[in-house]
Amino acid sequence: MLEIIVVGAGVLGTSVAYRLALAGAKVTVLEATRVGGGTSGISFAWTNSSNKAPRPYHDLNVAGMRAHAALKDEFGATPWWHSGGRVEWRDEAGRDEHRAKVARLKEWDYAVEWIDRKQLLDLEPDIDPAAVGDAPVAWYPEDGWLDPVVYSHAMMSAARRKGAQLHTQTKVTGLLVQSGKVKGVHTEAGETLTADVVVNCTGRWSNDTIAGTAPNVPLAPTVGFLVFTPPVPASIQRVVATPVCDFRPDGAGRLMVHWGPADALATPEITNRPGLDQAADLVARLTRILPGIAPVKPEASRITQRPIPKDGLSAIGPVPGLDGYYLMVTHSGATLSPALGAMAADEIMSGKSRPELAHFRPARFFC
Ligand SMILES: Cc1cc2nc3c(=O)[nH]c(=O)nc-3n(C[C@H](O)[C@H](O)[C@H](O)COP(=O)(O)OP(=O)(O)OC[C@H]3O[C@@H](n4cnc5c(N)ncnc54)[C@H](O)[C@@H]3O)c2cc1C
Repeated sequence: MLEIIVVGAGVLGTSVAYRLALAGAKVTVLEATRVGGGTSGISFAWTNSSNKAPRPYHDLNVAGMRAHAALKDEFGATPWWHSGGRVEWRDEAGRDEHRAKVARLKEWDYAVEWIDRKQLLDLEPDIDPAAVGDAPVAWYPEDGWLDPVVYSHAMMSAARRKGAQLHTQTKVTGLLVQSGKVKGVHTEAGETLTADVVVNCTGRWSNDTIAGTAPNVPLAPTVGFLVFTPPVPASIQRVVATPVCDFRPDGAGRLMVHWGPADALATPEITNRPGLDQAADLVARLTRILPGIAPVKPEASRITQRPIPKDGLSAIGPVPGLDGYYLMVTHSGATLSPALGAMAADEIMSGKSRPELAHFRPARFFC
């Protein structure tokens, strides 16, 4: 039986662990904190392929969306995934680009259509039509969002039912490499655990995890600033993208708010973290779209870094010159994880390459 160590229990690590365990591997998951305790725990987690290019990356994200939908047949219910769709409009300056994007997505057979004011208000009655003005509104019925920690827990639980072991609070400090082959990992507690294959799913920490024992894939992480309201009197059911902010439900009536330019306020350093004062601006923006929720203050703000390989695309697969090591690091992991988990497990178990991953090999950084 193939023995496999998966390092990291976010959306990616738990997805691949589940698929590997299902395929009959002996799987051990090592996680420095808790399941979903990394980037997956602080993510906008919109499942989509709305802004993904080039075409192979778009197709990979569509595969992720389909894989989320397909889990319903496998699990009976998928309470972690919300298939509510997405509405989007832009300000005057962004409309040509918006039209061009929708035209391109239609050409690529992506589910998108223009809707009128009545259709928008049927979908989201609490949106103030005055805030939309005369902007064309795009409707993406197959977009959705994920509760990434709930999803990660469900995948990890399913993997454990298939015999996988989970060790939380277990930090990996490097790979055990013998004669050009990875044979296991070292942990901070001083243990050495052996395996036939090690899968590195530690996201933005993936280079720290290997600590020079394997080649680094260069990352260019960006900082994200997310703001959360308390429960508010609005019946928002889907992802809403507007010129002043993007938002979506986050459980029990809370809304999660993101606004791209506000990311610039945040740095990873603890000394320069925007707090609730800066978050108040995002909530004020939100009340321009949903006036019925005012007066309201932010309940929380959170900051994380996106685990993005330097060229913006996923890095999935073996690393040249080092047998027994498989890397999985990507942005858009909320969308991609069920598809990437299945594809990676298939490659590891069968030894055959999946064509969908051909453009996303770590090897491209070492040519
Ligand atoms: C602000 C923001 C918004 C986002 N919005 C979206 C979106 O709308 N749609 C979308 O699809 N994606 C989005 N993403 C990206 C998505 O959240 C990530 O791609 C995804 O969560 C990455 O998951 P992961 O499993 O690779 O990493 P993580 O969730 O970070 O998991 C890695 C795990 O490894 C553990 N770990 C680290 N080092 C070690 C070690 N040495 N030993 C053992 N364990 C270790 C960590 O504790 C962590 O639990 C967003 C990200 C951010 C930050």
